[in-house]
Amino acid sequence: MTGVREELAFLRDMGFTHLDLEVLGPQSSVLSPRAEDRGPTTDSDDWTGLRDIALACTQCRLAKTRTQVVYGVGNPHADLMFIGEAPGRDEDLKGEPFVGRAGQLLTDIIKAMKLTRDDVYIANVIKCRPPENRNPEPDELDACRPFIKRQIELIQPKVIVTLGKFALQSLTGRAHAISGARGQWTEYDGIKVMPTYHPAYLLRTPSAKKDVWQDMKKVMAELGITF
Ligand code: URA
Repeated sequence: MTGVREELAFLRDMGFTHLDLEVLGPQSSVLSPRAEDRGPTTDSDDWTGLRDIALACTQCRLAKTRTQVVYGVGNPHADLMFIGEAPGRDEDLKGEPFVGRAGQLLTDIIKAMKLTRDDVYIANVIKCRPPENRNPEPDELDACRPFIKRQIELIQPKVIVTLGKFALQSLTGRAHAISGARGQWTEYDGIKVMPTYHPAYLLRTPSAKKDVWQDMKKVMAELGITF
């Protein structure tokens, strides 16, 4: 169970040098002066606190142009987590990841795996939309990494599927050619990771859908889902 010390370490990793408690409002369970009095925080306390911090984040330039922070959706106890790159226009407006055309394709992939969006957790390595959907900059990936890292720690999925090269790059800290990395199991913090193509790439290159399906069959086998 995570306590105040871990939350402060998280904020330090985010680059905070002082705490403005006002920004979190009176409801925050994470930075409440009485948090220690309550003993260990619960999972939901951690989750709510992390979300509060993300929604107020101004650690990089994307805070200036976003409409909404896109934190993540789904089952916080999911066995399977999908991690994408960054919100696009639809996601920025709705505050939810993968709700545009690429999102519909991801939803179809999830259904084909005999699951629903509510069974899994879906998040991005970048929580705010890059202007004109440009690629994320290295410093933006660095600024946002503590959030995805912490989401993974709290969810503790059995399997992570990374969608596209930036999701994999953010977790491993290395640039990858996704064509070489996809379909090969790798590991993040003891969790099995299956890199695959981004659904937006599949919209441009439908012939690659069969490769993604091969990758998802490996994920299903790992999770004990029969097909
Ligand atoms: N592409 C992503 O990587 N994430 C989204 O949420 C939407 C499109």
